[in-house]
Amino acid sequence: MIYLDYSATTPVSRKVLEEDALFHQRSFANCNSIHALGKAALEEVDKATNTILDKLNLKDYSITYTSGATESNNLALKGIAYINKEQGKHIITTAFEHGSIVSCLNYLANQGFEIDIVDIDDQGQVDLRHLQSLITDQTILVSIGAVNSELGIIQDLKKIKDITSQYPNITFHSDMTQAVGKIKTDFSVVDLLSFSGHKIYGFKGIGALIHRKNIDLRPLIHGGKSLSKYRGGTPPTSLIYSLAIALEDIYKNFEEKEEKVKKLNLYLRNQLKTIKNVFINSPMNALANILNFSLISSTSHQVQKYLSDKEIYVSTTSACSSNQGFSRVVKVLTKDDLRSQSSIRVSISHLSEKTEIDALINALEAYDESC
Ligand code: PMP
Repeated sequence: MIYLDYSATTPVSRKVLEEDALFHQRSFANCNSIHALGKAALEEVDKATNTILDKLNLKDYSITYTSGATESNNLALKGIAYINKEQGKHIITTAFEHGSIVSCLNYLANQGFEIDIVDIDDQGQVDLRHLQSLITDQTILVSIGAVNSELGIIQDLKKIKDITSQYPNITFHSDMTQAVGKIKTDFSVVDLLSFSGHKIYGFKGIGALIHRKNIDLRPLIHGGKSLSKYRGGTPPTSLIYSLAIALEDIYKNFEEKEEKVKKLNLYLRNQLKTIKNVFINSPMNALANILNFSLISSTSHQVQKYLSDKEIYVSTTSACSSNQGFSRVVKVLTKDDLRSQSSIRVSISHLSEKTEIDALINALEAYDESC
């Protein structure tokens, strides 16, 4: 089995599994309970929160734990939109966002919010002049993902913040699901950021929305008093604990892991160039974990199925949009229907090996020759 789909999800690390088992042995109480056991559980959770904020170097931020990045994105966008709707109803985003952002903004558009899409240049970078020109006195929210999940394009959030921070009514949110654990950056350039445990070798079912302490949100899930006033319900203490362990672990020996992924990416790129019908879609400066290409002699689904039958696992688009027959993101960047209908996302990790890339290339060569 050759797994090259680490941006869809990651296997749970041994460290997370082991720590999780120990956590369940020592702490099962409800951290909302005010007895000593509850207080001990709350201490565990507070420690995990401090670890996460510390690792991401986020002072003056709080965390609302969620079920994953989809929920975090919903809470960020709806939460900010609803609470600020008297100030304005204008939101700016890009055409590169994950389906959870797109669906949520479509929903808000139906609720009377106005959504504008900022242009991108031929390298996929946000056009800053266009962004500036879109801002009005009605603009309350700018949501721009840090790393696109299909192409790996990394946005310069600092430059975007330099613009949005000139407007006190604008809250700046970023979906950092593909960035956390894969890049080291100044995460504090945004007011809110979303990410998910299962992309960083943690469990599915836990995510976080990290928000500046001075930011107010309308909750999506109302309930009794809980860890965060923005999400009711009994906090999943062990999942929160495991999220901190996963984050701590992924940033351990980070430079070594990053170097390995960069080398593998370059090797894959060079090998792909030798296949006749391949066009590489990810720009050179994209995140090394993601390499998107099109094998234009076939459709994405045909290639994916062929590889899957050989137990080589890759994506067509992001896993959440994989029923579509084309990639809207590749279409936006390349403006090419054929490339968008035949795009494949390979996503690698520090766990990947050169022999796995070789197996993928051999399979693709054989496929291309048989077409
Ligand atoms: N945003 C991005 C950029 C993603 O890649 C994903 C996962 N495909 C999500 C959001 C949704 O994350 P989750 O599965 O945790 O809801």
